[in-house]
Amino acid sequence: MTSASRSIAAIALSLSLAAPQAAQARFTPTHGSNHWTVDQEVQLGQKTASEENRKMPLLAESDPVTQYVQRLGARLAAHAPGYQWPYSFHVVNQKEINAFALPGGPIYVNLGTLKAADNEAELAGVIAHEISHVVQRHATRAATTQQNAQGALSLLGALLGNGILAEAASFGVGSIFLKNSRRSESEADLLGTDILYDSGYNPKAMADFFKKLEAQGGNPPQFLSDHPNPGNRYEAVIREASTLPSKTYPADVGQFAAIKQAIAGKTPPSAQEIAQAQGNGNGGAGIGQSSIYPSGRFATFRHDVYDVSYPDNWQVFGDNSSDVTIAPPQGVSQNSIAFGAIIQEYQTESASDTLDQSTHELVTFLRQRNADLRQVGHDESIRVNGLPAKSIQLLGTSPIQRNGQTVAERDWLVTLKQRNGDLLYLIFVSPEPDYRSLEPAFQQILNSLHLRKTGA
Ligand code: ZN
Repeated sequence: MTSASRSIAAIALSLSLAAPQAAQARFTPTHGSNHWTVDQEVQLGQKTASEENRKMPLLAESDPVTQYVQRLGARLAAHAPGYQWPYSFHVVNQKEINAFALPGGPIYVNLGTLKAADNEAELAGVIAHEISHVVQRHATRAATTQQNAQGALSLLGALLGNGILAEAASFGVGSIFLKNSRRSESEADLLGTDILYDSGYNPKAMADFFKKLEAQGGNPPQFLSDHPNPGNRYEAVIREASTLPSKTYPADVGQFAAIKQAIAGKTPPSAQEIAQAQGNGNGGAGIGQSSIYPSGRFATFRHDVYDVSYPDNWQVFGDNSSDVTIAPPQGVSQNSIAFGAIIQEYQTESASDTLDQSTHELVTFLRQRNADLRQVGHDESIRVNGLPAKSIQLLGTSPIQRNGQTVAERDWLVTLKQRNGDLLYLIFVSPEPDYRSLEPAFQQILNSLHLRKTGA
């Protein structure tokens, strides 16, 4: 073979490899700017996964249910367009119908989702949807947009897109359970439809499953709040599916019926039961849990901008130059913080803005990101170690539930002006019923706060 014919052969080979790839995703995925490199994104996902894996009750790798979901996931991932992320598939032994993807490939499906699926195509639809979030890099793109818009925000804070709670949870806590935007949802639906089809499943199965969840009424499954309906979800998927040539859909990867039978007798614990079993006050026991209740002994944290003391059984998430969350490890769960304090900086629109003006900008900003947050009463002027400060009480919704009911959340916001004109702010977070018990500890944390003279 001459070198010329070798290179022609090589080109022909690459074309034949490329052709089916190009045909696989008809929906044209969008691209957006992204501050993360592919490697960084994979690392971010791996780090988060290793933290989540410790916290969540995962079925063992050797469990036939896990192995089945891994086979199904691999079949779908083989038809995912674009960069070939290192996908991994995990089954969470949890009752709620939900699934989520971490940046760069780890995908989690609750056992409750398997129990709710009536056929393999429906389950495949959920996984194809999650794979699409990974393909589209929705998490890091959303974070990039937020970063561009709000230079002062933490990189990870925006990943959750869930307001102050989300920002709080994001620093080293590793709880990147994504709340996706409607636009991301729409993309994941359409791309997922194509992946489903290319993998040999009826592409409308995903829409069927979502429709079934919506029809449940009452308390909608967690999946729908994490993956909100972008509007006309069913119709959009059917329209996309109708552009694909009709074909008969080959058999399942198999054992769906056997797996359904195997899990039929299983009653996975609810999120609340899991929290309780972990001795986690989130489940309803509240701060009576010694792990949540402030110890009364204080440790000191030195940040570049301030010093602060905190109960020594709580933990600092963040470092001396980042935004910081100080919380009992059990007070931070899933996608949010239920108990604790957030300390962050906020870049004001203009350095000459007064404390009052900047504080109102901040409240507006927080409310934009957290729609149900509302101010209670008036601002108060207070002093923190001699410095003028503003104190505002806000009410929102706590991430915890008690007896199946949502609980109001109290967020006590305190703002101070730094030398450079930016705000330093603290938000003390607690379920409303526990606020009185925690208030002394919050007050003590605030009283200990000293801005550094050399700070910004
Ligand atoms: Zn989604």
